[in-house]
Formats: sequence, C-alpha cells, structure tokens
Amino acid sequence: MKEFDYVIIGGGCAGLSLAYELEINKKLEDKKLAIVEPRDEYKRDKTWSFWRVINHNFDDCVKKTWHNFSLKTSNNFEVIKCDNFPYQSVDSGLFYKKINERLKKNKNINFYKEIKDLNINNSFIFNSVPTFKNNQSNLWQHFHGIEIQTEDNFFDNNTVSLMDFDCEQRNNVHFFYTLPFEKNKALIETTWLSKANDNSLKDYDNQIKDYINNSLGIKNYKITYSEEGSIPMFYPKNLIGKNIINIGTAGGMTRLSSGYTFLNIQEQSKYIRKNIENIRNVKIYEVEKKYKFLDKIFLKVLKNHPKRMPDIFFRMFIGSSSNVIKFLSNKSNIIEDLSIILKMPKWIFIKEFFRK
Ligand SMILES: Cc1cc2nc3c(=O)[nH]c(=O)nc-3n(C[C@H](O)[C@H](O)[C@H](O)COP(=O)(O)OP(=O)(O)OC[C@H]3O[C@@H](n4cnc5c(N)ncnc54)[C@H](O)[C@@H]3O)c2cc1C
Repeated sequence: MKEFDYVIIGGGCAGLSLAYELEINKKLEDKKLAIVEPRDEYKRDKTWSFWRVINHNFDDCVKKTWHNFSLKTSNNFEVIKCDNFPYQSVDSGLFYKKINERLKKNKNINFYKEIKDLNINNSFIFNSVPTFKNNQSNLWQHFHGIEIQTEDNFFDNNTVSLMDFDCEQRNNVHFFYTLPFEKNKALIETTWLSKANDNSLKDYDNQIKDYINNSLGIKNYKITYSEEGSIPMFYPKNLIGKNIINIGTAGGMTRLSSGYTFLNIQEQSKYIRKNIENIRNVKIYEVEKKYKFLDKIFLKVLKNHPKRMPDIFFRMFIGSSSNVIKFLSNKSNIIEDLSIILKMPKWIFIKEFFRK
C-alpha cells in the first residue's frame, strides 16, 4: 500500500484550499500528498460569500462583488455601504476546477476514494470530515436556495439583500438572503436558525415560491441552479492526536453566530503552509477565544429569545458598518467589539450570560 507524507481527508473547501496553498508555495515538490474524497465528480454545489477583509487565492473564482447590502425587518429597512470591505461570492464550480487543474499537474498528489486504500501509519493527517454528536438541542443554520432568471430586469444588482426577516418566523429565526448577480438573475435562499431535526421548517420550496411570488412580486422565472445545506452553530467533536489536525468546519473554522467559514479556512490554510515543516509541534490555529465567548452568549440569546433576533441583527448593523464587518470576520479590536456589544439589549444579554 502506498505511503504519503500528508493525507487530507475530504477534498471539499478546506481540503482543496490547503492542498492548493501547499502546491502554489512549492511545499509538495519533494513531499507526497494523498487527498481522500468520495465524490465522483466536482460540480458547483455551494456559493461561498464573505466580506473581503483579507486577500485570498480565488479572485478569479469570484462570481460578483458588491459594495452595498441591505437588512429588512417588518418595521425597518436599511441599505448599508461596504466600500472598505466589499461583499463577494465565490462560485464553488470555478473553485474546484481551478484547484483540481493545478493539483493534477503534480505527480506527488494523488486522489483516493477511501482511506482504507492507503497506509496512513506514518502520515500527517489533515481531517475535514466532522463528527457530530447526536444532540437534539443543538442549533443549525439550514437553508435552501435557488438561482432564478427572470424575463424582465428585476433586481438591484448593486445591493445584496443580506437578511430579510419580513417573513413568517414560526417561533424560530428565519430570513431570506438574496444575491443579485445580474438585473435578471439572483440566488434566493430561505434560511433558518433552528434545531436541525425540526422537519416542520423544511417546506423550503413553498417558502421560496411564496417569497418570490408574493414578497418580490415576480411571476415568471426559470430555475437555473439550486443548493441546500446546513452549518452547525456549535463545534463538532473530532478525534485529536499527535499526527492529526482538523481543518475547515471540522477544525472549528465556522463563526458560530454567522456561519461564515470560507475566509477562516483560507487563513487556516496559510497558517498550516507557513508551519508545514514543523507541523507536529505548532499550536493549533483557532478562531480567537473572545469571538467564541461572545458568540456563545449571542447564541443563548438566539435560542431563548428568537422573536427578538430580527431587531437584534438589525441594530447590530446600524451605525459603523466597518465595525460589524470586522467583528463578524474576526478582525475587530477591543474598541470595535465594544461598539457592537453596546448596541445589544443589555438585560437579555446579561441574563443569558449568567444562564447555565
Ligand atoms: C450550501 C452551503 C453554503 C455555504 N455558504 C457559505 C458562505 O456563503 N460563506 C461562508 O463563509 N461559509 C459558507 N458555508 C460554510 C462553509 O464555508 C462550507 O460548509 C465549506 O464547504 C466548509 O468546508 P469544509 O472543507 O469544512 O467542508 P466541505 O466543503 O463540506 O468538505 C468536506 C468534504 O469531505 C468529503 N467527505 C465526506 N465524507 C467523507 C469521508 N468519510 N471520507 C473522506 N471525505 C469525505 C465531502 O465529500 C466533502 O468534499 C456554506 C455551507 C454550505 C453547506
């Protein structure tokens, strides 16, 4: 059986980002890498969006960049400028193609369908397959989206609709998210923050149809693409060991309060690449502890006061957009953190801070 210096388990966003980062920085010229990935073919399956607070390797996979985003509740509507940190969407289809074309050129990189085909005894493992404990009370962000093309120009393609809470909440937190790629083309997602096992929220098709027809007033459209997924709003429990580092979602790269993960994965990949020669001894890369602490309280508020959340999210974004973007992207300083904390309804947050 073949032996490798490094084995990446899971060739998704984190696995491929890491392999690409190692490859373009010439870390695989005399080292062997195996990527274990069960899928038969790579095709577009996700749209990764984020505020561009750092440089990344995938500018040529960006589907669109926006300088405005909006928030809506049943009482309020606001368009917010984000010139300093534009909002971007990476097309996963282009991302997979770019990386796989590059990796194929290096004979030291091999793909396998199953780990049993390898001898991993002497390899260093990067694992991106998370293990979730079956805890019924955990919160998930779960969503279904469709990309539609309309007959007439309909969308304001300069403004992302980040959260539209003006929809039924069913005692959870629910919003629609719209990425207008062109005036007649947009990805529209129905998004729930709730327990994953709540099947009564999963009539996604009807929710989107109703939103498109009745809230947006669009009658004629064709569906060109769809995506569905769920992001844990808690950290997975994975095996830890001397010769293993968990990466991506499995490695705690998700910001629990927002689900944003993509740029954290890019930063984790860069960190690993910089330390690859000494990987067995370096500190594990983590989302900063202050964000984990603040997100934990935020999620307790979300779980126990879902009706307050549209207003809380709205308040968070009003004022300095740079502060909140930096906060949600792990780039804020203490003054900026305080500016966000002071906007929150104090008693609820204090109560949840002390709740066991
Ligand atoms: C639909 C969707 C949209 C998202 N949108 C955003 C966004 O807009 N912005 C953002 O920041 N984050 C977003 N996320 C969150 C996060 O960025 C993604 O989930 C991202 O793909 C996480 O990367 P990953 O490598 O950890 O997981 P994945 O990309 O899911 O990769 C895991 C890989 O492991 C493979 N695998 C599964 N089982 C095994 C096994 N037993 N052995 C080996 N391999 C296995 C899978 O086939 C997959 O390729 C989104 C998530 C989803 C699901």
